[in-house]
Amino acid sequence: MARKILLIDDDRMQFSLTRQLFKAFVASHYELEWKATYEEGLEALLHGDYEACLLDYRLGPRDGLELIREATERECRVPIIFLTAETGSKVDIEAMNAGALDYLVKGEFSAPMLERSLRYALKLAKTLEALRQLATRDELTGLLNRRVFENILREEMERSQRFGRSFALTLLDIDHFKNVNDTHGHPVGDIVLREVAQRLQGALRSVDRVMRYGGEEFVVLMLESDLAMATTSTERMCAAIRNKPVAAGELSLPITISAGMAVFPHDGANRADIVQAADQALYAAKTRGRNRAVAFQDCVVR
Ligand code: GH3
Ligand code: MG
Ligand code: MG
Repeated sequence: MARKILLIDDDRMQFSLTRQLFKAFVASHYELEWKATYEEGLEALLHGDYEACLLDYRLGPRDGLELIREATERECRVPIIFLTAETGSKVDIEAMNAGALDYLVKGEFSAPMLERSLRYALKLAKTLEALRQLATRDELTGLLNRRVFENILREEMERSQRFGRSFALTLLDIDHFKNVNDTHGHPVGDIVLREVAQRLQGALRSVDRVMRYGGEEFVVLMLESDLAMATTSTERMCAAIRNKPVAAGELSLPITISAGMAVFPHDGANRADIVQAADQALYAAKTRGRNRAVAFQDCVVR
């Protein structure tokens, strides 16, 4: 199947020209689509299924550099090759700094050069994506890792303060998990961890973020949630684990989790405090018999 490449350029000539070059490619089969304006181009880049993008510098009143920055800001991962008009301008360096993976000088590139540049950008994008996965994902469960959690928490606090909204943070910990390892071995423990991670994710709204906090502990950020909403979601997560034993080979293991909930900014107005509040609530859930969710507001000794 042909791989779709997007050209964003306000000049129709460039489209005809590039399409001609595509026909001369030897090793790869690409299909070229064209958008002529900044807005249409950005929209296509963000929502289309393009493998790479060729982006012109001049785009009416706005320019390609701006477009790269806006696309990057909106988490676009399509590799971009920048097209500049003249050699040796600062624009090409700026484009690379903004996030373009390569650049070509208009009127100076041939079909083999374009083909090579595309192949290079595709390969580099794949490598970057693999690195990003390694840096942000927990290997065992595939969930976001703790480093990402710290970043998201920081961002969410700023947003929350700016707009005067609350959000909730839930810490979850598998009950007596050490027994699973001790009785059935570490590999079975790993299967349980993966299954729990999946069920937690399945029990949440798409805007909520679940991450592996460490060992057999998970953390969930529930955006724009108050305690009532957080309680509903957290009870749903606990039930998703409790309701069905985890299958591991021949084994069928009943698993439960305990959860501690805290609401920002009510229960803690900085990162350390809000996490500690959730941790304290989790501890209360454990001491009250496990397999339950407890809110920080319900466990403070007044
Ligand atoms: P509690 O109900 O109080 O939480 O008891 P617990 O046994 O779950 O808690 P404890 O902290 O004593 O034990 C956690 C265990 O989780 C110990 C550790 O070996 C295990 N663990 C942590 N990470 C992993 C992992 O990646 N894989 C497996 N299989 N086990 C892990
Ligand atoms: Mg535990
Ligand atoms: Mg633990």
